Amino acid sequence: MRRLVLLATVLVMGATLVTATGGAQELPVGYDDTPQLPGLPWRVHDADRPQPEVVTPGPSFSEGARAPSDAVVLFDGQDLSAWRKPDGSVPGWKVEHGYIEVVAGTGPIRTREIFGDFQLHLEWATPHDVVSNSQGRGNSGVFYHGLYEVQLLDSFENPTYPDGQAGALYGQTPPLVNASRPPGAWQTYDILFSGPRFDGDRLVRPASVTVLHNGVALHHRKELIGGTVHRRVGSYEPHDERGFIQLQDHGNPMRFRNIWIRELGGYDEP
Ligand code: MG
Repeated sequence: MRRLVLLATVLVMGATLVTATGGAQELPVGYDDTPQLPGLPWRVHDADRPQPEVVTPGPSFSEGARAPSDAVVLFDGQDLSAWRKPDGSVPGWKVEHGYIEVVAGTGPIRTREIFGDFQLHLEWATPHDVVSNSQGRGNSGVFYHGLYEVQLLDSFENPTYPDGQAGALYGQTPPLVNASRPPGAWQTYDILFSGPRFDGDRLVRPASVTVLHNGVALHHRKELIGGTVHRRVGSYEPHDERGFIQLQDHGNPMRFRNIWIRELGGYDEP
């Protein structure tokens, strides 16, 4: 059974290495065969990129915050009615004790509604029991349009490549600091996202994001290079201004609670 679980993890992650005896190997903490990031002295997933300073967060101002009256509540502890699988079917993730838990191997979930530029609040916890390392430890992610990932990872005393740690714009930009709480603790993300704008096939404004992790700023209006990819440099493909929010199944039983979103408008006024 353990081997079957490990095999399933490999299929989901496409990254975990498994020995002939079924034991998980140490995962890499970086790559030296990836392309250079544009305008930077670092490769994609560069282990030598400076590690963000560790900051111990205080109580998060937004933990447990009730959604504002104009927010769309995406999860209030009850059910997954605001979510679906990419094929439109009912998500395989479970709801218990007021939180969502990822059921590994059932795939990502995405919102039924679509949103333009937004303010998103979500609370998440990595597994209390540490069973792997680097990208195998408490990995998930929140994707806008299913294309642009703000990484979710257990980055508490867990070395990995800086552009893949908690709060990283995955494969592009490390967080300004590491404000992670220990495994199993609830953590908050408050994200302001402005999507890209296209004129036909031409990019006229890149996406940008502001991220607060446990009340600590990790990014402020940071522009994205393009869509999120692994071991490559992302690029932009034209898409609609509104899209779904997606949460990643990366093979770890991550937990989520208190998720709400407010769509923002007005920034395209002349
Ligand atoms: Mg991820």
